[in-house]
Amino acid sequence: MTKPLFDTLALIGAGLIGSSIARAARAQGAVRRIVVTARSPKTRTRVAELGFADKVVKTNAEAVEGADLVIVCIPVGACGAVAKEVGPHLKPGATVSDVGSVKGSVLRDMAPHLPQSAHFIPAHPVAGTEHSGPDSGFAELFDNRWCILTPPEDADPEAVERLAAFWRLLGAKVEIMNAEHHDIVLAITSHIPHLIAYNIVGTAADVEQVTQSEVIKFSAGGFRDFTRIAASDPVMWRDVFLNNKEAVLEMLGRFSEDLAALQRMIRWDDGDALEKLFTRTRAIRRGIIEAGQDTAAADFGRPHGHEE
Ligand code: NAP
Repeated sequence: MTKPLFDTLALIGAGLIGSSIARAARAQGAVRRIVVTARSPKTRTRVAELGFADKVVKTNAEAVEGADLVIVCIPVGACGAVAKEVGPHLKPGATVSDVGSVKGSVLRDMAPHLPQSAHFIPAHPVAGTEHSGPDSGFAELFDNRWCILTPPEDADPEAVERLAAFWRLLGAKVEIMNAEHHDIVLAITSHIPHLIAYNIVGTAADVEQVTQSEVIKFSAGGFRDFTRIAASDPVMWRDVFLNNKEAVLEMLGRFSEDLAALQRMIRWDDGDALEKLFTRTRAIRRGIIEAGQDTAAADFGRPHGHEE
């Protein structure tokens, strides 16, 4: 077993991501002890039953007392309030991180509440499924997935490297970039695809000429993949869009222009242009498979989804 990188890990929030971190950290011996808290008594009870933490406590303040690494694993809109709550209780020199899908807002909302002595290094493991809650986590979630760290400019390089080593031990590949760039990249690779899925599933549900039973019956025609993404946690995704507003609106503008161009190709029977685009997009799909970020298996053959 490897020597633990941190003594005590405190996880605030024990849903899909928090519980996967706990399971993976324990499996890899990345920390000596894991303390977990969650907002509701129901989740805390379930965490205790599942047994992936050494201790389950009631308050966030209690969870961070004496912790060497604190990871906030809750919807991004709630991160500021939690930082305010735990800031005064942090152990001097503790590393504080998160897993939020948006980084600019997390940096803006959490940093002012943390003491100078804390090493604040936001992070985003680009791995997930459409499931939520403590039962949905698994130790292999981060295997071969990227974890993006967005340290502030004045972050201590040693603390950044220690957190990077932690994520590598959990199976992830680590990349470092600034928060603003992260939010633009993720707007197009994750946030807009989710918005499209939410929209198309909503549209299909509203089309009067097609019955609900037909939507379900013929879903293998492409719709089914969208329904999986559109089943993702409503609160988490509400917070993503409200907190990455500018980048999402910018990318949505570009997307709408390209959609209008496609509309025009269809209207004017421009088969060549359609074929050219579809050939280009097929090559992108092959590149993703070659990079090991997906398998060629059909959706129903996969062990887990892994959009984020
Ligand atoms: P989840 O399974 O729904 O778990 C969320 C956890 O946050 C639960 O423990 C919940 O506590 C707690 N929580 C919810 N609202 C809260 C609030 N207002 N204050 C304090 N705690 C609160 O969610 P998740 O998928 O693990 O997502 C957590 C974070 O990871 C989000 O920021 C998300 O952007 C990011 N992320 C998600 C994915 C993904 O695919 N799901 C991937 C990468 C990153 P209760 O159960 O007690 O309500």
